[in-house]
Amino acid sequence: MKKRPIVLADRDGTLIRHIPYLSKLSDVEFLPGVLSSIRRLNSLKIPVVVVTNQSGVARGYFGEDFVRETHSYMNGILKKEGAHLDGFFYCPHFREASVDRYRVSCGCRKPLPGMLEEALEVFHGDPGSSMMVGDSEGDVLAGKSLGCHNFWILPQEAGKRDDLAFRVSSFEEAVNLFLSDTELLE
Ligand SMILES: [Mg+2]
Ligand SMILES: [Zn+2]
Repeated sequence: MKKRPIVLADRDGTLIRHIPYLSKLSDVEFLPGVLSSIRRLNSLKIPVVVVTNQSGVARGYFGEDFVRETHSYMNGILKKEGAHLDGFFYCPHFREASVDRYRVSCGCRKPLPGMLEEALEVFHGDPGSSMMVGDSEGDVLAGKSLGCHNFWILPQEAGKRDDLAFRVSSFEEAVNLFLSDTELLE
């Protein structure tokens, strides 16, 4: 299959409101503009894939089943709005984990690019024409190491760009900029 652009997105603080170690479904709240932006990407058949560090698992705050349940819940909300996320990759590890089996130096915890690489492989993404968006430096460092178009949600610096990333105010703004590159839409 021909390689294509995909959208890689951090979860907390990017798609949904950032709650440290989110552990209740009732705390899931999509940020403004996210539902409509995902719907737009869906209509263009551009896969939208979540890549999220969830060290709360390693720290014993919640289990992997809760992470998966959260992702189903997110897609349940999106479905009612005629939208969907195509995939979810999460890293449950942490070097100083309290839960033994997650205490590893893995290759998937951002800023390392393991989850992004896996997502690109599964969805036949071309790194150079795909985008990574997140609200942490680790997100854009991971995207940068693979040569993705990089967007860093950092409202106080929106509009600025450097070698690492284009600063934007929101996921919606990142998607708008990404799609305004018409080569992606051929
Ligand atoms: Mg984040
Ligand atoms: Zn990991």
